Amino acid sequence: MNKAVFKPVVALVGRANVGKSTLFNRLTRSRAALVADFSGLTRDRHYGEGRAGDRPFIVVDTGGFEPVAKDGILLEMARQTKQAIAESDVVIFLVDARAGVNAHDHEIARLLRRSGQRVYLAVNKAEGMRHGGATAEFHELGLGEPYAISASHGDGVIDLIELALSYLDEPAADADSATAAEFEIDEGTHLVHEHDAAHEQAGAAAAPQAVDHRIKLAIVGRPNVGKSTLINTLLGEERVIAFDLPGTTRDAIEIEFEHDGVAYTLIDTAGLRRRGKVFEAVEKFSVIKTLQAIEACNVVLLMLDARAEISDQDAHIAGFVLETGRALVVAINKWDGTDREQRERIQRDFERKLRFLSFARMHTISALKGQGVKALLKSVNAAHAAAFAKLSTPRLTRTLHAAVEQQPPPRKGIFRPKMRYAHQGGQNPPLIVIHGNALDAVSDSYRRYLEARFRETFDLAGTPLRIEFKSSH
Ligand code: GDP
Ligand code: GDP
Repeated sequence: MNKAVFKPVVALVGRANVGKSTLFNRLTRSRAALVADFSGLTRDRHYGEGRAGDRPFIVVDTGGFEPVAKDGILLEMARQTKQAIAESDVVIFLVDARAGVNAHDHEIARLLRRSGQRVYLAVNKAEGMRHGGATAEFHELGLGEPYAISASHGDGVIDLIELALSYLDEPAADADSATAAEFEIDEGTHLVHEHDAAHEQAGAAAAPQAVDHRIKLAIVGRPNVGKSTLINTLLGEERVIAFDLPGTTRDAIEIEFEHDGVAYTLIDTAGLRRRGKVFEAVEKFSVIKTLQAIEACNVVLLMLDARAEISDQDAHIAGFVLETGRALVVAINKWDGTDREQRERIQRDFERKLRFLSFARMHTISALKGQGVKALLKSVNAAHAAAFAKLSTPRLTRTLHAAVEQQPPPRKGIFRPKMRYAHQGGQNPPLIVIHGNALDAVSDSYRRYLEARFRETFDLAGTPLRIEFKSSH
């Protein structure tokens, strides 16, 4: 089928103080590197990557349900719980063994039961409690067998997560009743793609990936920047083959189109559905879908709104793109009808908040009027070419030697780094491995100098570039 299989998403829900963030930290091994921290999007929601054995998953901490107003808490709980259900493949519902069942637990349980979502009931803070004693009273929540865990001590945590993930290995009951209903699928063009194993290795930057001739493109950005509008403009005159896929957030919708003889696969971030002739987003914005689409694509198109300030959320998405090493093109949309003041303001804002994206090409466009879209796609093509560029060892080594000759690396103490040769260690992003001696002593600024030289020589605009040093002694 025409889908990308994403890492499964496990959501942690529960009222305040049951231990969600403690469990989150344990599952993500307190990695300082959160996948993303989108505070202010809804409430504080944290997204992190965890691993059970060698199996990666994404964990979402939905944040507490602090009362906004006295009667606001129930509404807030309902909203958060529903969001967690919508965004996840399985839910872990935490309750507190020491505090016992309370009314809020019952309310959350009610929502979860009605959702039909797979739920595991975790009775937390159960360390040192008598076997069975901790969990007995939680049967009344009607969510099946409660599991005793201790998020802070680690007891039972791995077993629970493995259980939750193993459920996802079972084939979904409705997997074959794919809903072509909402789509007009051209007869005879039902392309069947084998699952692309490269997706699963998205994190393994060091291993060169098979070059796919299609450009996998993800269009990301905040709600209302114009993503759907751009997609409709792109797809407007083109023959479109689109598939809706059933099931969970692990399945992405991919839309294939061609433009000027180049084949693209658009990876959906917004739950696009076809309504009549146009696509529209059914869910306005999903962080998880955005992160997953970025992981599954080769090139990210980050859209910003010329008429709005660049927000923390924009910067978070941009930061995540950089971290994954995907190629990137930036589009500042709604350029039509902007005045000079707006144009200057957004450019200043970009300089200030997104300067770290200087490797990417930036375009001003109007998705609505189709202005600038052709040039934008040219940059997408160029970024893709750069991301998958083949860098020959002799040419890399010549470039390295020329750079060193022009400006030798500074000494560090008694050590002078010596660079012998360079070869390519990966693609998307290109990884250049430099071999030599005493390379630990290479400074960040020298690394940036080398990066600039490689970029210039190999025309690597639009992609992050990684440099790794390997010293033989
Ligand atoms: P959240 O509001 O659901 O995110 O809860 P926190 O993770 O902030 O935890 C609330 C309190 O419970 C903190 O004081 C934690 O140290 C404590 N806590 C969390 N997990 C455990 C546990 O397994 N055992 C015990 N005894 N305390 C825990
Ligand atoms: P999404 O949430 O990112 O998919 O944003 P939409 O495509 O739904 O667009 C949000 C709003 O911005 C809609 O009212 C669009 O008509 C409008 N819009 C999108 N692109 C442009 C543009 O280039 N210029 C102007 N003026 N409005 C636009």
